[in-house]
Amino acid sequence: MTRAIDIVRTVRDLRTRVAAWRKAGETVALVPTMGAIHAGHLSLVTLAKTQADRVVTSLFVNPLQFGPREDFHAYPRDESRDATALAAAGSDLLYAPEATEMYPPNFSTKVSVGDLTEDLCGAARPNHFDGVATVVAELLLQCAPDTAIFGEKDYQQLLVIKRLVRDLNIPVEIMGAPIVREDDGLALSSRNAYLSPAERALAPILHQTIRQVALELEQGCGADAAAEAGRFKLEAAGFRVDYVAVRDPDTLKPLHGPVTAARVLAAVHLGATRLIDNVPMPLGK
Ligand code: AMP
Repeated sequence: MTRAIDIVRTVRDLRTRVAAWRKAGETVALVPTMGAIHAGHLSLVTLAKTQADRVVTSLFVNPLQFGPREDFHAYPRDESRDATALAAAGSDLLYAPEATEMYPPNFSTKVSVGDLTEDLCGAARPNHFDGVATVVAELLLQCAPDTAIFGEKDYQQLLVIKRLVRDLNIPVEIMGAPIVREDDGLALSSRNAYLSPAERALAPILHQTIRQVALELEQGCGADAAAEAGRFKLEAAGFRVDYVAVRDPDTLKPLHGPVTAARVLAAVHLGATRLIDNVPMPLGK
């Protein structure tokens, strides 16, 4: 039987645990999550274990990164189930602070990364990336890990965090981890639980479509035409499309005409559920 994972809820207790590991000469990796743990999160823990002696997983449903009409209250929460899964995957510690620990009264600091956050998900979700940057800056300062792991599933977020850490010289290595998918290609997400059976049956078309966009780019199709074809296919299948975009993989700047390296990103709504996905181009990269 797997040993239960230790849970700490305060910065003080987190730092005490990390300091003891440091004293023993051990390195530390942090895996930030909002819980509703699935195999995608667990793959980050597995990667973290290859990078450091100790792995801290944080679980905090961050109110700052949800819009007023988004699913903060409905977001799935089951800490004891999450704790069991994280222990089995080999995480050493679960940091699950209360909101007041992260945002004490009169909390008045906002971390805002410009440039990368203005469009794509930033356009559809105003303030979202400020909320992400603020909570991640705080988690990195609270835990002070050597490495922090983030999924490529949230590709724009990964680049925002890399920029944040570079700009502020936060002494941590940010590492991206590949997207874990269902057998039919749907990227694992806590929000997949919201999908009705009919929506779940349609959902894999998102990944199929952006793969198709990447293949067309590989065959020399121009970026705008390939993205437009992807949008058309998704709309015809019944998705409401936020964006299908072909972007520079490092800067997320728009690309036009034939491309040799890109990231194909998309965000759609299926009923009330917003889904995002992305693939590299070339696909093998
Ligand atoms: P979340 O709990 O949704 O905030 O996600 C926590 C971390 O897990 C983020 O770095 C996500 O990018 C990552 N993640 C979520 N879904 C997946 C997935 N299907 N594959 C890999 N990483 C993922």
